[in-house]
Amino acid sequence: MRAIVIHAPRDLRVENLPLDEIGPGDVRVRIEAGGICGSDLHYYHHGGFGAVRIKEPMVLGHEVSGIVDAVGAEVSRVAAGQRVSVSPSRPCGACRYCQEGRQNHCLDMRFYGSAMRFPHVQGAFRQVLVASEAQCHPVPGELTAGEAAMAEPLAVCLHAARRARPLLGRRVLVTGSGPIGALSIIAARRAGAAEIVATDVAEAPLAAARTVGADRTINIASEPDALVPYGADKGFFDVLIEASGNAQALIGALAALRPGAVIVQLGLGGDVTLPINTIVAKEIELRGTFRFHEEFGLAVELMAKRLVDVRPLLTATLPFEQAVEAFDLASDRTRAMKVQLAFA
Ligand code: ZN
Repeated sequence: MRAIVIHAPRDLRVENLPLDEIGPGDVRVRIEAGGICGSDLHYYHHGGFGAVRIKEPMVLGHEVSGIVDAVGAEVSRVAAGQRVSVSPSRPCGACRYCQEGRQNHCLDMRFYGSAMRFPHVQGAFRQVLVASEAQCHPVPGELTAGEAAMAEPLAVCLHAARRARPLLGRRVLVTGSGPIGALSIIAARRAGAAEIVATDVAEAPLAAARTVGADRTINIASEPDALVPYGADKGFFDVLIEASGNAQALIGALAALRPGAVIVQLGLGGDVTLPINTIVAKEIELRGTFRFHEEFGLAVELMAKRLVDVRPLLTATLPFEQAVEAFDLASDRTRAMKVQLAFA
């Protein structure tokens, strides 16, 4: 089979890989769609992010869906011929955090296409993937392969919405309107947010943000003072979902937050210097959010019931042989929200 392998920054290759053995609890999936994520782009452009660096060739990809091709003898929940969303998250199930129900903090996590551990965990941008049954979530026939491959980033944003709780009736500011910001808007709206304002520095993502439900969008590059009126009377927003990873977005939003507001930091970035006196005096809660666990199944369910529609975010699908072209397109925020690869 063929797979998409990163060797070094800007060195992305389509290569042959041997097929994996299928164990009794395993499911073999013929991958149909794979979405390119911001972290894939970090490996592509920079060879990693922060302290995480590629030290050996690694198959990229963790947002995938496909058709079940074969199942092991002990598998009962999925059957050959079914379309599944495959969760890239493989917690051990046995460590203290798994036992506490905090599987996203597993001490022995094996997350597809991640160089956080060595040897790296190989990813899912491949024609054939062997996953465990627990990773495979059947999707109904109405969902396309592309939609099914959005379960992973949607799960990330559902987890962020859970971290932001309560959202019912809240006024929410979302900074950064790329795919993760847009999915956060969808999640916040579904959770009952009364008003959602989204910011970005580019027009295309802001248009997408409006399509998926933002009440107002602000281009912070062309309207740098547009958040100022929200700072009256100690602030306006109850919740900030920071999806850009840009320090200026976080710092620039503080004045617009009400006392007691919750910040959910979703975007990853470098180290940031914060105006700590503002955070103290306004009693602001700063919360991180990292990956997901049970939200993956919820993401599939919400899409299956059409309570969430991710289709406006799917920009383009390219054959996987054109991976370099697809990664370059996905890197251009003026042209692309979610770019996916077709493997079938
Ligand atoms: Zn664990």
